Amino acid sequence: MSEKYHTVVIGGGCLGVATAISLSKKLNNNSNNSSVCILEKSVLAGGISSRHSGIIRSANASIQAASFAEQANEMWRNIKDHWGIDLFPETPGAIWIARNDKKEAAKTWRDLEKNLKKNHIDFYQIKSKEIKSLTNDFIRINEEQEIYFHEPNAMLFDPIKVRNAMYNAVEINNIKLKENTRVTGFELQTSDKIKRIKTNHGTIFAENIVNAAGGWSPQIFDSINVKIPVSLQPVYVSNWLVSKRKLPKDFPIIADYINLSYFRSWKDGELHIHQPRDRSPASIARSFAEEPTSMKGADVFFDSSNYTASYAETNKYAEMIRDRFPYANPYVFNGGYLTFFDITPDLKFILGKDKDVSNLYHCLGAGQAFKYAPIFGDILSNLILKRKIKINNFDLQEFSIKRFYKPEMKKFWNLVHGSQNTLRVREQATV
Ligand SMILES: Cc1cc2nc3c(=O)[nH]c(=O)nc-3n(C[C@H](O)[C@H](O)[C@H](O)COP(=O)(O)OP(=O)(O)OC[C@H]3O[C@@H](n4cnc5c(N)ncnc54)[C@H](O)[C@@H]3O)c2cc1C
Repeated sequence: MSEKYHTVVIGGGCLGVATAISLSKKLNNNSNNSSVCILEKSVLAGGISSRHSGIIRSANASIQAASFAEQANEMWRNIKDHWGIDLFPETPGAIWIARNDKKEAAKTWRDLEKNLKKNHIDFYQIKSKEIKSLTNDFIRINEEQEIYFHEPNAMLFDPIKVRNAMYNAVEINNIKLKENTRVTGFELQTSDKIKRIKTNHGTIFAENIVNAAGGWSPQIFDSINVKIPVSLQPVYVSNWLVSKRKLPKDFPIIADYINLSYFRSWKDGELHIHQPRDRSPASIARSFAEEPTSMKGADVFFDSSNYTASYAETNKYAEMIRDRFPYANPYVFNGGYLTFFDITPDLKFILGKDKDVSNLYHCLGAGQAFKYAPIFGDILSNLILKRKIKINNFDLQEFSIKRFYKPEMKKFWNLVHGSQNTLRVREQATV
């Protein structure tokens, strides 16, 4: 006979785990029988959740997303109350460096500051002398061409400690974790309801299903014709040994929009660096046109033979460090890897009920989701239990999967699949 659960979560990354914990707590799950199960094809947090930089920050052009992030920040600070485990962040704050072109770009950043302020999110412009004191003169700045913002509440976690905490939280919250269990398909009850989940270890009955499979979602749900618009954007991460005598204690996160890179101190003596998502519509469309998620796309990215980076990629980061941190010299390359952001066409996450399948819920991050994990878990568990969501400024429409089927998206899909699908046209196009 099939095992039976109130909810099965597909994917044991930070979002799947957060959803399972929140749901299990609300179901008051203290009997010996778990009513929430996580199916993970490999090991817990073995997907993109093994690759994040542990940064928790709130500034975001979407005020709704910023507001979620701000509330998640609060939850992370008190994670024991939510997940029952101890996990302590550092709070070095973040410095944002933007181009001061005296025109559009600078105005966009100042508008962002105003909008965030209206929503009580601490993010404000600072002078160059404050940068110097916040970084102990460790970074080189160019006052003529740059403007600076400070987000004092931004935090850092050690990703390995987060992963260990996730294992503990799964255990103490009485969640059934099935590692090495790959979802291979579904058995439908009616055309709009899933009855059973097929795995490599047999079928499982579930009243509700949460898709937290990130970059793998398209290949999992294709068999029941649920199209999840997620694709992959490669990103290279590298770590550099610098002198412990030089790297200041409490070194802030540097979100450098001149070099298009995030920097943080790493393992107490290293500089960690990676680039943000490429936001240009042409590049996003190309990621979808190349369809890396079709069939084994996400697996290919995680094949260990693909972890290495080229000399050119490593050297590009070396140049950025030379430019931004000249006082760190000498610095020593201490390893890097290629990984990917799971992206949606508008780079916003997908959260909430499926469009057609009544017992299916989505919880996907669009490349930037570790920081939201506790709040996403809270929102989804309330949706599944049909409880009122007590969150400030709550509106999920912006993140519903339905948005990708609106007429406005036609232009994007045409870039991807339609008559305009040539690189030349895509380079010129904007959405
Ligand atoms: C370089 C880099 C740095 C980042 N830094 C930050 C940061 O500082 N802060 C931040 O907030 N975010 C950051 N992110 C983003 C963050 O890592 C991701 O958004 C987040 O980890 C996504 O979690 P997830 O649970 O959605 O997906 P994943 O962690 O990818 O989990 C999906 C899981 O589904 C499993 N799965 C797949 N197929 C199946 C199947 N058929 N059956 C069962 N299970 C399956 C996979 O094995 C995987 O474990 C970063 C991302 C990258 C790449």
